[in-house]
Amino acid sequence: MSVQRARTLLPTVWRACTAHAQHCVHASALVTDTTAPQGGAHLQHRFFTPDSPLRVVVVGAGPAGCYTVDRLLHRYKDAVRVDLLERLPTPFGLVRFGVAPDHGATSRPVVERFTRLFNDPRVTLLCGAPVGGGGVPVSQLGSLYHAVVLAVGAPGHKPLHIPGESSLRNVCSARDFVAWYNGHPEHSHSPPVDLKSGAHAVIIGFGNVALDCARLLLRQAAGLAATDMPSPVVGAFVTSTIRHVTLVARRSAAYVAATPKELREVLHLPGVTCSVHNAELDADDQNALEAGPRQHRRALEALLAAASHPPDAGAHGGDARTLRVVFLRSPVECLPRAEDKQSVGAVRLRANKMSGPPDRRVARPVQPGAGGVEDDVLAADVLLSSVGYAGLPFDSDVPFDAKSATIPHAGGAVVHPDTGEPISGLFTVGWAKRGATGIIGTNLTCAEETVATLLAHADAGRLPEPSIRDCAPADRVAQILHALGVKVLTRDAWTKLDEAERARGQAAGKPREKMTSLSDMLAYAETCIKG
Ligand SMILES: Cc1cc2nc3c(=O)[nH]c(=O)nc-3n(C[C@H](O)[C@H](O)[C@H](O)COP(=O)(O)OP(=O)(O)OC[C@H]3O[C@@H](n4cnc5c(N)ncnc54)[C@H](O)[C@@H]3O)c2cc1C
Repeated sequence: MSVQRARTLLPTVWRACTAHAQHCVHASALVTDTTAPQGGAHLQHRFFTPDSPLRVVVVGAGPAGCYTVDRLLHRYKDAVRVDLLERLPTPFGLVRFGVAPDHGATSRPVVERFTRLFNDPRVTLLCGAPVGGGGVPVSQLGSLYHAVVLAVGAPGHKPLHIPGESSLRNVCSARDFVAWYNGHPEHSHSPPVDLKSGAHAVIIGFGNVALDCARLLLRQAAGLAATDMPSPVVGAFVTSTIRHVTLVARRSAAYVAATPKELREVLHLPGVTCSVHNAELDADDQNALEAGPRQHRRALEALLAAASHPPDAGAHGGDARTLRVVFLRSPVECLPRAEDKQSVGAVRLRANKMSGPPDRRVARPVQPGAGGVEDDVLAADVLLSSVGYAGLPFDSDVPFDAKSATIPHAGGAVVHPDTGEPISGLFTVGWAKRGATGIIGTNLTCAEETVATLLAHADAGRLPEPSIRDCAPADRVAQILHALGVKVLTRDAWTKLDEAERARGQAAGKPREKMTSLSDMLAYAETCIKG
């Protein structure tokens, strides 16, 4: 959808909304928003009624998309219909394919809450329904709905940009590793690294995703059998020979990105001994630690306390495992194994020094030899890079800011990057909007902002009127996808898949046994529908 199209639409939209407002003025009582400021219903409620509802399509059924649906229903009551389009056969985004399998207590209540939304008669869920790329173009959605909300997440990852990263075996992004251990159908065919290649894993990065990977590599794998981790993946962890994990942090110990709770969980794993390197703080670091977020102090305290415990070797039948945290180092090169030049065997790390003004200190590399600091070479039979997920350009109709890897926006309204002008009827939310930061709950606040902006645009008559109104928009979307050869799963088909996974899980003593092949999932769903 171009800015020009938005501008040409605007006068028509104004006329449509004004006429509609006169027509529907008495309907406002039906949809009074109890959360509205004193005075009762918002202005836009006169425009949208149960008979002529606001039609919104949300693209992406991860937390941001689901919270957006939730907020829209809350705000507009019966005067809204929301279609939720998800490109994969299953909803929930990173709640299913990101949150670690041994953190079921985190994902379970979220899944239950979102599932209730899918059963709401005002909501239509279509899975296997991609938008952009080989799916429905965003511009076509623009002719079916008043508003399109892009909640497509940040599916890429930030590369390290070092030699050997893409050429050597057993080097991969945490994103691919996480997707594999969670049974993502596009990553489940084979493990991205060989967990039997040796004893040493190095993880570049020290955030919560890095901790998830470290915890799963170090924990006693038998406990994973009772999680929803796919059985073949559990098998790979059970036979893993990895015993020593090193986490490499670019910045000093004053800036621990991992949260204290998640850190303690890995520090307290049975049989794991912890050590910390280069954790000394200079005066500026001390000031930064004191002035910075409390969680940095708590995380560092937890780390230093764990490192002060004597080694636990031998306590677990000789199966001792170690966690090492190295601060102020960045990788500069992946090195091959002596006996197999195709696979990684080590990683060269360069020292960093924190510098810059107190509120904007950054880690800068120290040239080898300067100040007596040389490069370190760490054994790495497996190397995971966990320096962040990143947004990817989505569709030619949608602007993308390559620097922040996000969709440019003002309060959730997608804007033209050059002019800052909102693109009529186009909104964004979640990781696609803010970048890959924040926990599941952060997306609720984010969705509230986007929905408030959408509401303001509706109030101001700035939403385009759908030009196609001859059938339910979700039916039209399904027809478009059908014509493209894409099999769409309705909510009922997804429910059958869900039930089948749970039943298989129950038989194996776990919450669910995920289906991990795209073709199997689609074939199963089709059988259910036909049956
Ligand atoms: C490894 C990992 C572990 C995490 N663990 C936790 C945790 O334990 N606790 C916690 O609170 N937070 C956790 N988080 C953070 C949390 O998962 C995110 O905050 C949240 O998932 C972001 O929501 P989102 O909806 O923006 O993106 P996503 O969850 O990525 O959802 C985006 C959805 O859009 C769909 N989509 C993408 N492109 C298209 C398209 N073209 N057409 C249609 N659909 C599309 C995707 O398939 C996906 O379902 C974790 C994150 C990661 C990466």
